[in-house]
Amino acid sequence: MIPQMQPWFDQKEAQALYQYILSSGWLTEHTKTREFEKAVADYVGSQYCFAVPNGTQALFLALKALGIGHGDEVLVPDFTMAATANAVVMAGGTPVFVDVGDDLCMDIGSVDRKVTKKTQAFVYVSLNGRASNLRAWREFANDYSLYFIEDAAQSLGSRYRGQHLGTFGDVGIFSFSAPKIVSCGQGGAVVTNIDWIAKKIRSLKDFGRERPGADHYLSIGYNFKFTDLQAVVGIEQMKKLPDRVERKKDIFRLYHKLLCDVPEIEFISTDLKDVAPWFMDILVPNPDKLAEHLKEKGIGTRRFYPALHSEPAYSLVGDYPKSEYAARFGLWLPSLCQLSDSAIVQICTAVREFYGA
Ligand SMILES: *Cc1c(COP(=O)(O)O)cnc(C)c1O
Repeated sequence: MIPQMQPWFDQKEAQALYQYILSSGWLTEHTKTREFEKAVADYVGSQYCFAVPNGTQALFLALKALGIGHGDEVLVPDFTMAATANAVVMAGGTPVFVDVGDDLCMDIGSVDRKVTKKTQAFVYVSLNGRASNLRAWREFANDYSLYFIEDAAQSLGSRYRGQHLGTFGDVGIFSFSAPKIVSCGQGGAVVTNIDWIAKKIRSLKDFGRERPGADHYLSIGYNFKFTDLQAVVGIEQMKKLPDRVERKKDIFRLYHKLLCDVPEIEFISTDLKDVAPWFMDILVPNPDKLAEHLKEKGIGTRRFYPALHSEPAYSLVGDYPKSEYAARFGLWLPSLCQLSDSAIVQICTAVREFYGA
């Protein structure tokens, strides 16, 4: 069976964990976490990086640090992983869904009419490592005095005009969950270049303390500490990231080459100079039937996310044609970095056979 996704660990992580356990560390967040945070900050080019238990909590912390709470509206894309909107609800705010564009990211053309007096921030999700109009998004933030949060959970290794994603907003987040390009099993990070936001996040993730270890509490805070066990794995994963970024690009290139002449298959325009596509995405007329055919051949796939507004969790009505289009026709093909070229040929042969191409 070829899975759609699979994390990738080897002797490097095993040895590092073994050494760490023998070093009498306390397992909780300490020097290894600082080392991991520095590796992420250096790689993406941010001044500050805070490791947290997962990407959802990273989003929650970012929102909390910016003071988002009851009565505040936050613009989010309708097509995204549910955590983007759920974190707004967790923080006490109200997500307001905005349709996406052809790149499956929040559409700058649909956003002005969603702004109300209550709007405080927006979360731009660079879905699958793609982004566009980031200068216009900055202007939008300035025009309406909104905070610009970047959910770059899928974008480690991806850039926009050479600058790493997650560093365009006031604050950005990453995820190191099992399917992400760098995995700690669970994990997340908040990045920022703004001193006061960094200070708030450092305190909020440590019970609201003024200083680590000092029992003086500036605000209601949480225990969102990382563990050095995860950091040890993350440090090894970060060393592998540059190769993985190249592999993701090669995988996309090969899929595109082998499938671009099949008329039923629609690709999303992708600039591989900047983008390391996390998942191999296609839009097809009958994704469930194609998925079934591939499953019979031992090939795993995953349907795109649903249009979030219409899920029972939100049950909203509204006009989100692009989001609904993506949800209806999208399919993710096997995208694991360890996928061989011959496996991609095998997958594409099975896809072509389905369409009689
Ligand atoms: C993975 C992901 C998250 C959530 O991260 P977790 O670490 O699973 O909590 C949030 N947003 C997007 C776009 C994601 O892909």
